[in-house]
Amino acid sequence: MSMLAVIVVRNGRLCAGAQEAFAEAGSQAMVVGERAGDAAGQLSGEGTVTAIDVSVDNLSALSTLMVGLIPQNVRVLILPASPDGRDCAPHLAAVLEWPLLAGAVRVRADTVVLVRTAGRLGEEMGVDRPFVATLVPGVRGFEPSSAVPHIHRLECGPLDVDVAVTSVEVLPPEPSTMDLTEAKRIVAGGQGLGSKECFDLLGQVGTAMGASLGGTRVASDAGWIPLERQIGTTGVAVNPRVYLAFAISGATQHTSGLGHPDHIISVNTDAGCPMMAMADLAIVSDATAVLQALAHRLLTT
Ligand SMILES: Cc1cc2nc3c(=O)[nH]c(=O)nc-3n(C[C@H](O)[C@H](O)[C@H](O)COP(=O)(O)OP(=O)(O)OC[C@H]3O[C@@H](n4cnc5c(N)ncnc54)[C@H](O)[C@@H]3O)c2cc1C
Repeated sequence: MSMLAVIVVRNGRLCAGAQEAFAEAGSQAMVVGERAGDAAGQLSGEGTVTAIDVSVDNLSALSTLMVGLIPQNVRVLILPASPDGRDCAPHLAAVLEWPLLAGAVRVRADTVVLVRTAGRLGEEMGVDRPFVATLVPGVRGFEPSSAVPHIHRLECGPLDVDVAVTSVEVLPPEPSTMDLTEAKRIVAGGQGLGSKECFDLLGQVGTAMGASLGGTRVASDAGWIPLERQIGTTGVAVNPRVYLAFAISGATQHTSGLGHPDHIISVNTDAGCPMMAMADLAIVSDATAVLQALAHRLLTT
């Protein structure tokens, strides 16, 4: 059975997990959305991509359009579990009348491994019919390659599909609630912050800076942050542009989920710990004191 990655893009940029979905589908993809051709050009690997330039204002109408463009031999659709991917997948599944298997970390034509409870439980399922799956970003990984796919561009006029759901407005994500995988700025805390109150304050300071809250496993085990905010091998894989680490030692299990931030700022009393060694700006200081000073600057004016 043939597999196809379906990648919804905005402003010519690939979403989190797009490259992994492309690789998982055997380097076959349909890239749809604004400046789809530009986004498709960012995929690496040999293969074939159909790029469809179209407005993403109405994902329901877009899904109906896409169904008409899926080649006959395709029996498995893989969408990155990005916000748009998670939105589109149920629409596609409903129109095609195929089952939706959400939260996969491995997709084959006849089996899917799904993860539950924030990635701590995996379940392998056999599938004997066509299906739609969403692939969790940051778990599969991919080998960067200098090869580029062959891109077919399709022009598409305004969507004229009669659907029950219409989108009124697309709002930018709130830093405090957005997916960590999509966040361009992250403030994260570790054991040295020491309390739920400090993490709540870190979250507020982060929001004031347009940054999302994350943390180490010590923080999620202590209940200072929810599981889905834990960064690392048993948490989520992120790739922000800026990462601010408060009282985090920088254990491999944490930093392996960090991606490649352009800038790392670390606050720690131990100048020699791995997180400080990775930092562009390493501040040797009490993390709670720095946090309170930032809160004073950003939250009280
Ligand atoms: C199988 C396995 C999977 C794991 N998965 C993950 C994972 O997904 N994510 C993850 O994060 N961890 C994971 N871990 C745990 C990981 O090994 C580390 O234990 C953890 O990352 C350490 O978290 P931490 O930096 O908060 O704590 P610590 O390592 O205890 O570091 C605390 C840091 O705070 C500093 N500090 C203390 N007080 C202050 C202060 N007042 N001001 C400033 N700095 C201060 C200390 O100098 C130290 O550097 C995993 C472990 C295992 C075995």
